[in-house]
Amino acid sequence: MIKPLIECIKEAREKKVAIGHFNVSDSEGYNAVTAAAKELGVPVIVGVSEKERTFLGVAEIRALVTVAQERGDLVYLNADHTYSVEASREAVDNHYDAVIIDGAEKPFVENVMMTKEVVNYARAHHPTMLVEGELGFIGTGSTIRDEIPDGVSEETQTKPEDAKTFVDETCVDLFAPSVGNIHGLIKGGEPKLNIERVRAIAKAVSVPLVLHGASGNTDEEVAAAIEAGISVVHINTELRQAYKHGIEKGMSSDELAPYKFLAEGVEEMKELVLKKLKVFNRMQ
Ligand SMILES: [Zn+2]
Repeated sequence: MIKPLIECIKEAREKKVAIGHFNVSDSEGYNAVTAAAKELGVPVIVGVSEKERTFLGVAEIRALVTVAQERGDLVYLNADHTYSVEASREAVDNHYDAVIIDGAEKPFVENVMMTKEVVNYARAHHPTMLVEGELGFIGTGSTIRDEIPDGVSEETQTKPEDAKTFVDETCVDLFAPSVGNIHGLIKGGEPKLNIERVRAIAKAVSVPLVLHGASGNTDEEVAAAIEAGISVVHINTELRQAYKHGIEKGMSSDELAPYKFLAEGVEEMKELVLKKLKVFNRMQ
């Protein structure tokens, strides 16, 4: 069996690089992400949000990743943005490699309580599974927006002392802060990442940091965030754009075979993942 995900993340931190986390909704997305990682010889995390894994099948995507892991590929499965303890338990029961319990929109105490409950359940039923907690709202959904979502501002960015309290009280393995990152793409351009805040939070907590909503941030900003202490970077919206764009090209012919008209979508996703992984792994 391959090494546990936490080891890959720790190695990334030591090398000041980050592991790419890419969301998929189907086997085409899965193939594109894993092919790109394999080509570069780097580990990768396949992410499925609650809706993405309902569409794919909670157990079915686990089976796909298991096949890759049994072959020795460093591919890991994360139950991305899980909003209830119940749905998190389902991910634990299906032996996902990691889960994110997302209580970021809830009051601090409630967020701590639900995160702790998931940590306890995971430790009891699947001890090597990583549990990620979030503090500081960054919006929901991977879509293209007209403006910054309500409830997200510089004021709501995660404070280092709150991050420390949250990590200490919940015992999470990974921590996702709000540092100027936003889910989805903003039409007029994304706000800048707060690199100094990343550095301060990395100093305050003992666990690796995860940057969500990195679609739309420049390569330079993301590289600076990694240097400051980010160990996992999430991309979803840009991947969805690439897929849709590729499929539209494929659909413009009279082609009936799905493996032909979908192939353009897979190719465009793979190109994007290659580009991102090179930035995250400092291969440029
Ligand atoms: Zn996210």
